[in-house]
Amino acid sequence: MQTILAVDDAKDTLMLLEFDLQAEGYQVVTTNDGLSAISRMEHGDIDLVLLDLYMPNFSGLQTLQAIRENPDFVNVPVIMLSASDDEDEIVEALELGAHDYVTKPYLAKILLARIKNALRLRENSLKLENLAHKDHLTELNNKGHFEELAIKALSHMSRHKENVAIAMVDIDHFKNVNDTYGHDAGDNVLSFVARLLESSFRDYDIAGRVGGEEFAVCMPHTEDDDAYNACERFRKKLESAIIPIGDELSISVTASLGVASVNSETGEYDFKQLMLSADEALYEAKATSRNVTISHFNAMLSKGRSELENVSLLDENQPLERVATRNLDSNTSVSLENFTTEEVKMTEGNSAEMDGIDYQIGVGNVLGDDDLFREILQMFHDDHHHDGEKIQQAITNQDYAQLKSVVHTLKGVSSSIGAMELFEQTKILDIAINQQDADNYQRLFENVSFQLTRVISTIKKELNI
Ligand code: GH3
Ligand code: MG
Ligand code: MG
Repeated sequence: MQTILAVDDAKDTLMLLEFDLQAEGYQVVTTNDGLSAISRMEHGDIDLVLLDLYMPNFSGLQTLQAIRENPDFVNVPVIMLSASDDEDEIVEALELGAHDYVTKPYLAKILLARIKNALRLRENSLKLENLAHKDHLTELNNKGHFEELAIKALSHMSRHKENVAIAMVDIDHFKNVNDTYGHDAGDNVLSFVARLLESSFRDYDIAGRVGGEEFAVCMPHTEDDDAYNACERFRKKLESAIIPIGDELSISVTASLGVASVNSETGEYDFKQLMLSADEALYEAKATSRNVTISHFNAMLSKGRSELENVSLLDENQPLERVATRNLDSNTSVSLENFTTEEVKMTEGNSAEMDGIDYQIGVGNVLGDDDLFREILQMFHDDHHHDGEKIQQAITNQDYAQLKSVVHTLKGVSSSIGAMELFEQTKILDIAINQQDADNYQRLFENVSFQLTRVISTIKKELNI
């Protein structure tokens, strides 16, 4: 049912309008003044507005102007209701973007015909817009429109200092589907994947088809871990989906995903850069095994991070500030690829002895400086050897703010020192906390506790504490 908003300061006119329009099968919403009309329109369910020209305070023309200035309302036609047939006012209203006008007292038949007309025009222009914005096969946003929407979302997130992530999705060995089952079957698969993307991600995530068998999803208000989880949810659903391709045949496909995010504290809200990072992570996913999600952040981590990632990783962990500064001062890349063979050998030798700590990653974070790394291990020990008790206490006392704070910090710091299993387990607990999945805190904490004990005892042994 279509909804019409009638705005008039005269209550009797509103009653009449309501009666006539309802009789014709429209849903009717009424307001007495322009300002409340605009706030009512923000609900997003209004298909057409009937607007009185003469109203005290905020006039019909002012209301019309405010409606036309709001990009959310561009497709909502406005028909002016004017008591007089004052030509100048009517011309002004039409120039301001009114669709049509009807003079009061109105004839119901004429008013209804004009409403029908305006709604039909609106539908046509929506269809045209759809054609220009949608990919015709999958009905997702096409590449151009995806970019437009994602850039808008990014600048919105930047203004509000919010996190945002972009994922690239590429179907694995899709060429084989076409080669084996034909192009139509391939098309079916693409449409299926598109529907699954829509149903797996949130309504306000922006999905698009950005290449033949490539899709992208922009996730506003989303930090790296959550974006990764959303991608994994989708990937697993696809992996287990049975896709009908006609002739009673069904097949399964998998996809590889690369995800990159902007951190509100450190990141640059640059669409091209974010797409590039997501693409790099996707490339990594294809290169490793396919049917995986790789976060750009973790891809860099496993490569031995770039300087930028290093700083962004460390700066959420106060105790390690010194390290971040040191890396900033230096022009040397921390990539392990830049180490001499001897250095790598030395690190490999040591890594075997550090149970629960990947020495290469840890020392890589401090430009291969073994002394500094040991100092950091000492700091980690001093600051975090009681974290297990702190977390347990926070769970017992249901002090979730404290829990979040300890776990979040531990997560960041553990990856800085190369304690990757500890990092993985704290990450899982951190995600559960974000999802307020309190039933699982205790169970997930056991894993964290096990890994933390392991890392602390390694450090003790290593530093003779
Ligand atoms: P990878 O796992 O490395 O991504 O392998 P792939 O085969 O998926 O990737 P590749 O880029 O080699 O092949 C993509 C294929 O997608 C080739 C192309 O014919 C097919 N394709 C692109 N657009 C469409 C389309 O609209 N419909 C169908 N059926 N196939 C398409
Ligand atoms: Mg491809
Ligand atoms: Mg592919």
